[in-house]
Amino acid sequence: MPTILSLFVTFKATLKCNLACQYCYGRDNHAQGNEMTDEEIRKGLQFVKAYATLAEAKRLTVCWHGGEPFLLLHRLPALLDEAKTLFEDSGIQVQHTIQTNATLLLPQTYDTLRRYFNGFVGVSMDLFSRFRTFPGGVVSTDLAVKNIDAALAAGLRCGVINLITQDNVGKIPEIYDFYKQRDIPVRLARVFPISDDDTLSSPMYVSDEEYANALIQYFDLWANDPQPAPNSDLVKLVADLLLGVPSICLREANCHQRYLALSPGGDLFSCAEFDVPESIIGNFLTQSPEDFALSDARDRLAAQAPVPDKCHQCRYEPTCHGGCFRERFMLGYPFRCHSNQRYWDHIVQWIERQGAGLYLLKGKPLSEKQELLDRIFKRQP
Ligand code: SF4
Ligand code: SF4
Repeated sequence: MPTILSLFVTFKATLKCNLACQYCYGRDNHAQGNEMTDEEIRKGLQFVKAYATLAEAKRLTVCWHGGEPFLLLHRLPALLDEAKTLFEDSGIQVQHTIQTNATLLLPQTYDTLRRYFNGFVGVSMDLFSRFRTFPGGVVSTDLAVKNIDAALAAGLRCGVINLITQDNVGKIPEIYDFYKQRDIPVRLARVFPISDDDTLSSPMYVSDEEYANALIQYFDLWANDPQPAPNSDLVKLVADLLLGVPSICLREANCHQRYLALSPGGDLFSCAEFDVPESIIGNFLTQSPEDFALSDARDRLAAQAPVPDKCHQCRYEPTCHGGCFRERFMLGYPFRCHSNQRYWDHIVQWIERQGAGLYLLKGKPLSEKQELLDRIFKRQP
C-alpha cells in the first residue's frame, strides 16, 4: 500500500441525530439510528492504529462525526482516554476534532472540548435559512446561534461550514458580518444533490451561477475589508492558487487513499460524506487491517469515477484534480467545476492585482514563498 503521511479518519460513531436536516448526506441517516457500541469504537480505534502503522502515517486526525456526536457525550471521555493510551508509543501524532450541529453544544460539553479537542468545535450551519430542522420541522438555527455564542463566551473556538441555499444566497453581507463579529472562520458550502433531478425541485439548492456569485461576493467583502474577518479557508485557497497545491480534500488527487470513515456495523467508507452502500470499501469488524491495506477496493471504487479528460487540459488541475471524488461518483461529473472555475478566475484576477500570478510560487524556495504570502496577507489579522 502507498505511504500515507497524514491520515484523516472519521468515526461516524452514531448515526442518531436530534435533527432531521433536509439536506443530510444520506437524507435519512438520522432515521437509521445505528450506533457503535463502546466495544466497536475500541475495535475501530485499534483497526485505525494498525492501519496507520501499515501506512507509515506520521499524523492522524480523528474526526468525531455522526449523526450528532454530542449524543455520545457521556461515553466520549473514557474512549478518548483509551485512544490516548493506545497511540501513546505509536510515534503517530494524533489530534481529535468534532463536528456538531451545535444544538447540544451546552455547558456540559465544554470540559470535554477543552480536554480532548483543544477547545475547538466544528459546526455545520445554514444561517438565515430553514433546512436545519428538528424532526417536527422547527428550525434549529436560533438555538445553534445561542449555543455558539455561549461557547465563545466561555473561551471556546468555533469553525463553521455554512450552507448556501435559496434562502440565504441574497444575504452574503449579513453572513460575512455574523461570522466576522464572532471571529469565526467559515467555509461556504452548497447542498449537494443526490441526483441531478433533485436540483430544481427544492429551494435548498442554488445554481452554479448563484453559488459562484455568492462565493465571489464573500471573497470581495473579505478582500476589501480593512479589518477582514479571519478566514483560513480563503487564505488556504489563495495560497493553493499561488503554490499549485491542494490544501483540502475537495482539491486533492486520490483523496480515497488519505481519508477513511468508520460506520456502525463496521462498514468502511472512503470518507464521511461518501457513505452510500455502493461506496463501502471494507469492514473494520470482519476484516483485518492487513487485509484492508492489501485490498484493492479503494482503487476499484476510484476507477468508477475517474478524473475526466478535460481536467488534464484545465489550468486549475494542480489545485483541483477533478474536484470531489464522491461528487464525480454520484453524479458522473465534477459537480463544482463551473462554479469553481468562475470563482477561481475571480481570485486569480485579485492575485494579479497584488502583483503575483497563478502558481507563481510553485517550486520556489521557502523564503520566497513566505515573503510573497506575507506580503499578500499582511493586512490579515
Ligand atoms: S476546475 Fe473543472 S475542469 Fe478544471 S480540474 Fe477542476 S473539475 Fe476539472
Ligand atoms: S470524496 Fe469528496 S468529500 Fe470525500 S474526501 Fe474526497 S473530496 Fe473530500
